[in-house]
Amino acid sequence: MSEPAPLKLFNSLTRQLEVFEPVHPGEARVYSCGPTVYNYPHIGNMRAYVFADVLGRTLTWKGYKLTHVINITDVGHLTDDADAGEDKMEKMAAEKAQSIWDIAEHYKQAYWADVRALNIRQPAQWTVATDYVPAMIDFAKSIADRHCYELDSGLYFDVSTVDDYGRLARAQTDEGEGRIEAVEGKRHPADFAIWRKTPAGEKRQMEWDSPWGKGAPGWHLECSVMSGKVLGFPFDIHTGGIDHREIHHPNEIAQNQAFCCTDGLDVPANSGARIWMHNNFLVERSGKMSKSSGEFLRLQLLTDKGYHPLAYRMMCLQAHYRSELEFSWEGLGAALTRLKRLLTAARNAIDSVSDGAAYADTAFAVIHPKLAPLLEKFDAALADDLNTPVALTVLEEAVAVKKVDAGQKAALAGAMMSALGLALPEREALRIRPKTAQMDEAGIEAAMERRKAARAAKDFATSDAIREELAAKGVEVMDGDPLGWEWKL
Ligand code: AMP
Ligand code: ZN
Repeated sequence: MSEPAPLKLFNSLTRQLEVFEPVHPGEARVYSCGPTVYNYPHIGNMRAYVFADVLGRTLTWKGYKLTHVINITDVGHLTDDADAGEDKMEKMAAEKAQSIWDIAEHYKQAYWADVRALNIRQPAQWTVATDYVPAMIDFAKSIADRHCYELDSGLYFDVSTVDDYGRLARAQTDEGEGRIEAVEGKRHPADFAIWRKTPAGEKRQMEWDSPWGKGAPGWHLECSVMSGKVLGFPFDIHTGGIDHREIHHPNEIAQNQAFCCTDGLDVPANSGARIWMHNNFLVERSGKMSKSSGEFLRLQLLTDKGYHPLAYRMMCLQAHYRSELEFSWEGLGAALTRLKRLLTAARNAIDSVSDGAAYADTAFAVIHPKLAPLLEKFDAALADDLNTPVALTVLEEAVAVKKVDAGQKAALAGAMMSALGLALPEREALRIRPKTAQMDEAGIEAAMERRKAARAAKDFATSDAIREELAAKGVEVMDGDPLGWEWKL
């Protein structure tokens, strides 16, 4: 057995690839910024969690004991990531005339359904922001004297009180990139609220007493507190979408520096985490993905149109997480075909798919000279900053190998699929009925049987008529499909 490849990850803080060295030997502690549960997640949001899941699976693959935490933001995130706008949760609750708690519960459940559908592993803990408000107040109290000042609207963090503010964003400390000074009295445009007071005469659905008056915590404070409290500073890796590199994470870092009484960011661990990782965006041809414009790309919409959710996972894996990925229906269709092809070729491996495949166990079981090098190639791809596009091609190579021990081949393919989170369902499960489909499977199968009989009897007129009849109901007959699918919706 050869040496596994050292795991290298791209640290946004240093803008460099770095060999992963855990803070606690043998462990990996990861925090991922989770969703704000005021609306359904779009598939772009879900790319962030597929990425975090691949990172987690890779750490497991490399033999680390993983502790992954994802938070649920149910208070404090404003419509603008800087301090402008309204609280997203309060706004949606007012629009829908519902309680914030009901809104949060509904969208949290919807998000969790997408998490399951995409085969994203359950983290060790989902931290819910409103459960941590007393801890947030304690955190704020401990840094207020040295790092904050109070205005009528709340308690603000003075970014000039820590070294290297904004290094993660590579933004200038003062003018910031396109920051609007939305709050009167701020000392620097980049200063941000860590506690927002409820304006006099107003009543918010969610508000707590604090030394700075009734109000709610700032969004950045939440993540500093939940990550530090559950994982301990410094922990190993903090993840989020690339938009968080600009405001949210620099602000978390400033708070963490203040809290830990640490110095500048030449030592990355002073930021609270050793490595900060960011996935790039899923974009639409027309530009940024949004929940308000055009067709709202929810995972449910993909399923309604007949695409299995794992086709979307496949689509994400086909791109490196640091590259922008453009969504298109053709691209999704191609990903689904690739998934079907993989499943067809890897049928024997399905029983070997588990949730926590590890390189060391696999290397122990897979020693055939045609297979062992593929295991190494796969390991090297994942270790190269999660190069899933390459890892996928190696998996395909592995399932295509001929004349090898079937058990070893299945073990190899199963381990690779586990590491990528492609726990393939039964082949048939990949065929999903679009909502608009007018025929059920039994009806289609019956028509296909009649057509087969007609063809056997050389009655091509009837056979063609059945084909047309099926086409009119949205069913395409696929004679001679190499994957053996006789029809598709
Ligand atoms: P939010 O619920 O808005 O806090 O976003 C949840 C996660 O999705 C964050 O990590 C964002 O950075 C990320 N995100 C938002 N839009 C996209 C997108 N189009 N592609 C990839 N990630 C995104
Ligand atoms: Zn966060």
